[in-house]
Amino acid sequence: MGLLALGTPLDWPEAKKNADQVREWGIKQLLSIWNKAKGKERDALLWGDEVEYLVVTYEKDKPEVTLSLRQADILHALAQDEELSSEGGCVPALQDIGGSTLPIFHPEFGRFMLEATPGKPWGIGFKDLLDVEPNMKLRRKIAKDHMNPEEYPITLTTYPRLGSPGTFTTPCFPPSGDKLRSQFVPDEIANPHIRFPTLAANIRSRRGRKVQVNVPVFKDKNTPWPWKDPTVNYDLHKWKEDDDVRNGASPDNFIHMDAMAFGMGSCCLQITFQAKNITEGRKMYDQLSPLGPIMLALTAATPIYKGFLADTDVRWNQISAAVDDRTPEELGEKPLEHDRWRIPKSRYAPNSTYISEDPRLRKEYLDPNLVIDPDVKQQLMDGGMDSVLANHFAHLFIRDPIVIFAEDLQKLDLNKTDHFENLQSTNWQHIRFKPPPVGSDIGWRVEFRPMEIQITDFENAAFSVFMVLITRAILSFDLNFYIPITKTDENMETAHKRDAVLNDKFYFRKNPFPTRAPRPYSSNGGLNSGTASPAMLSRPPTPSGPVEDEYALMSIDEIMNGSKGDSTNDFPGLIPLVESYLDSMNVDVETRCELSAYLSLIRKRANGTLWTAAKWIRHFVQGHEEYKSDSVVGEKVNHDLIGAVIAIENGGIKDVRDVEKFLGPVTKPCSG
Ligand code: GLU
Ligand code: MG
Repeated sequence: MGLLALGTPLDWPEAKKNADQVREWGIKQLLSIWNKAKGKERDALLWGDEVEYLVVTYEKDKPEVTLSLRQADILHALAQDEELSSEGGCVPALQDIGGSTLPIFHPEFGRFMLEATPGKPWGIGFKDLLDVEPNMKLRRKIAKDHMNPEEYPITLTTYPRLGSPGTFTTPCFPPSGDKLRSQFVPDEIANPHIRFPTLAANIRSRRGRKVQVNVPVFKDKNTPWPWKDPTVNYDLHKWKEDDDVRNGASPDNFIHMDAMAFGMGSCCLQITFQAKNITEGRKMYDQLSPLGPIMLALTAATPIYKGFLADTDVRWNQISAAVDDRTPEELGEKPLEHDRWRIPKSRYAPNSTYISEDPRLRKEYLDPNLVIDPDVKQQLMDGGMDSVLANHFAHLFIRDPIVIFAEDLQKLDLNKTDHFENLQSTNWQHIRFKPPPVGSDIGWRVEFRPMEIQITDFENAAFSVFMVLITRAILSFDLNFYIPITKTDENMETAHKRDAVLNDKFYFRKNPFPTRAPRPYSSNGGLNSGTASPAMLSRPPTPSGPVEDEYALMSIDEIMNGSKGDSTNDFPGLIPLVESYLDSMNVDVETRCELSAYLSLIRKRANGTLWTAAKWIRHFVQGHEEYKSDSVVGEKVNHDLIGAVIAIENGGIKDVRDVEKFLGPVTKPCSG
């Protein structure tokens, strides 16, 4: 989650004093990259995935399960091994299984987390899509090989009993430390690299109180109602922030959490695409934006917080609240006096504006209330940037830089991007537009960030591959998914509802086809090529009538699999669009079969034939003999859930109750 520069971090009051300078230098650095890279052309599609893991300690016969805080040791062991193997040393574990490029492991916010990426970006060929799953499995294996026998990397979005009373980490530390001031988790829960505790402490300080992460509790048969979070302590007097709960921070019927770790301790699956040039990157950014909430609901995997079943299915809003540094003035709780503007969203939020120069971007799709810094916009435009893109960055730059290192304030270096990245990397929007790093070969990139991590590498590969294919279909068929951007905010809220994937409707564009026949890409046998299938494009284009006529409320099934209304009112479905794209390409039978297995998983998740992880986890908890129908996910239930999750990825799948309900038949259709 960003850069790990070292230095002397400034506490909040000092950082605030230097915020203007960081912003000013950040803008200069941005203009410098923009001027150097705006004409950059890259012909190959490259892309990458990022998988985040929790590290747990689990033993079948030992009741306690904990989060292992050995991130640094594990990363150290991995790095040492990697170094040795790159020197040709004798580290058979890595050399045997690693192939030519080993995966790369990174730290994450939680001291119990790891992140892993492939050793080099994925390329243009369809065959690369089939390498993703084995590579993800390899990453998991390598990570596991560098852990203690009782430690496992697992891909649950959140640890179900993070912050519950009792022991939930190894080693165990009591709350509550100076940085987080949490009632529930110790400071040691965060990665000790100075950036992370400073980020948490300065967010809290800027906000003037602790972050407030409240999740509606799931009301089961025996859940007392109104429900009062029984783990909240109203009698603590160690920090002034202990007053928060006495001032109403923990409302009835909500699971109350009070630290950045409850959000940024969650895991996701992110995909980054390199565009062939800035124009394509800007288009990709816009077209992927409406897909965000759909993919969030479809990957829902977060039904438990702090030992209680929640009434929501996804992590998004919790992370949003966990890093919300807005002051009472910015939140609109007090008249504006010291701050510059009201800010409607947290730093972690759905993105707020479109950036493409596509003529199909109607001004009605933009948010008329977008908050921007007009001075920043002016500077960018004076530097040659167009107003649409300048708006985007002038919006990101309404925020303060949170972590500033004293050493970086001495001299502006236009060959670096540290000040720009400071703001960019702490604007955690659901799509991120990434300029090329200075002095590198990399092009303009777009990162798709909303998806929840899935329990198995099969699912993680399926969703990664789907995102690559739909992106190629968008570009190849020149598809148009524009809806007013504020509708994406509404969709994001909808995605939180329990089982939204089956029960709720999302705003989506009715006719995605272009008004003119798309220009075929040159045919070179890779993902880049392809021509639109005429059958798909035979419908008349959307006339530019009222914007409200362009979109409708649709179920995820209709959006993914298509709706069969009358011929003027049906939606083709994202999966059929991907299938059409594949039909237009020369994909060999075997590859096509493997890809179809991934698409089939997603198709079935969308139509309810298969459950989301959120649903399966709920089902597991509610069917456990020790669950008392009171929303409490106790230690034994947690133990067995973690055991099941480990078993699923380690060949013990047949022992896990109802696993086929969310993964489908265990046998692979294409082998043999
Ligand atoms: N773990 C965060 C999430 O679940 C993302 C952190 C990052 O940007 O790497 O969204
Ligand atoms: Mg990450």
